[in-house]
Amino acid sequence: MPAIKESRNPFRIFDRDKSITERCGSDTLIYSKLWPIIFLFSSLTDIPMNLPKGSKPGQHRDWGWLPTLIVCGISAFLYYGYLCRIVHRPAQAIAYLVPFNILLIFYLVSYGRIISNTPGHAKDIELTKGKDKLYTVLGDPVWCNICCIWKPDRTHHCRVCGTCVLKMDHHCPWVNGCVGVSNQRYYIQFLFYTTVMGIWIFTTTLAAFIQFNSLATFDAIALCVLIVGGMLTFILSIFTMSHVLLILNNRTTLENSIFQKWDRARKTGKSQDKRITMFTQTGKSVFDQGKKNNWQEVMGVRKLQWFLPFSSKQVSDGVHFGYNPDTLVEYNNDKSTRVIEEVKPNAI
Ligand SMILES: [Zn+2]
Ligand SMILES: [Zn+2]
Repeated sequence: MPAIKESRNPFRIFDRDKSITERCGSDTLIYSKLWPIIFLFSSLTDIPMNLPKGSKPGQHRDWGWLPTLIVCGISAFLYYGYLCRIVHRPAQAIAYLVPFNILLIFYLVSYGRIISNTPGHAKDIELTKGKDKLYTVLGDPVWCNICCIWKPDRTHHCRVCGTCVLKMDHHCPWVNGCVGVSNQRYYIQFLFYTTVMGIWIFTTTLAAFIQFNSLATFDAIALCVLIVGGMLTFILSIFTMSHVLLILNNRTTLENSIFQKWDRARKTGKSQDKRITMFTQTGKSVFDQGKKNNWQEVMGVRKLQWFLPFSSKQVSDGVHFGYNPDTLVEYNNDKSTRVIEEVKPNAI
């Protein structure tokens, strides 16, 4: 039975037979010289690029702080523009700046916590290093040849970080690392506060624009604040909604991407005899325990914890996950015909 041919990178926007990385030719002289620019393009678009010939996987991290510096630069610009070019009167200052500063604090704290927390590295868990196979809900665990450990359920090896990440969601250049079991809650909070802050900036700046009613009195910086606020609102609200939906269905970005590809093939009848890990033949996820439990497994049990990025309490340890017993029985029943291929989440 043929193995499932997974895309080498599920996050790739252009999923063609010949990938962008192949077309670039990482061993050409020009590619090596323009590598910093190519890396920046790769970060901005989330399209992974190959390293120049002879480079090590970890070398991506040499440039890794560039996108985070861009985030800090945009934040500083918005703060300056909003404070100095939009807010003019004392009465306006209280109404505009108090909510803005509260949102900004939560935004900065959640961003800082994503970066300062590791996503959860499988090599730091003692259970993965034992001579005996690690117990996993999905059956035999997979051995990572690079980290030399047993991979717990939902763990994937990130080629950019060069290590196995517990419940890896995806590698995010904007935070210079992976989003995994230990920082996923902060990531959702970061997206939420960025979106709300974008809405606040856009609506209040638009109100100021209507009030002044003329482009002549509305300077270029104020106009930029309006445009950036609008873009943040538009792009990040879609992004935040999609991540909330993934959590409610208990899927990571990576798992969902693999599932969508398989599901498309299944619906067109091209992969009737193929299976993917974690999902039954009928497309149900073993880890789907209902919307409420799925949400609490990532965001915490207490409602305050959903919004505050200060507590570091996490429900899942990244090795043991709640699961649906009925779906697990169904999953094990069609296991005999199951072909599961090791997922390669990053082509870099
Ligand atoms: Zn590994
Ligand atoms: Zn990573």
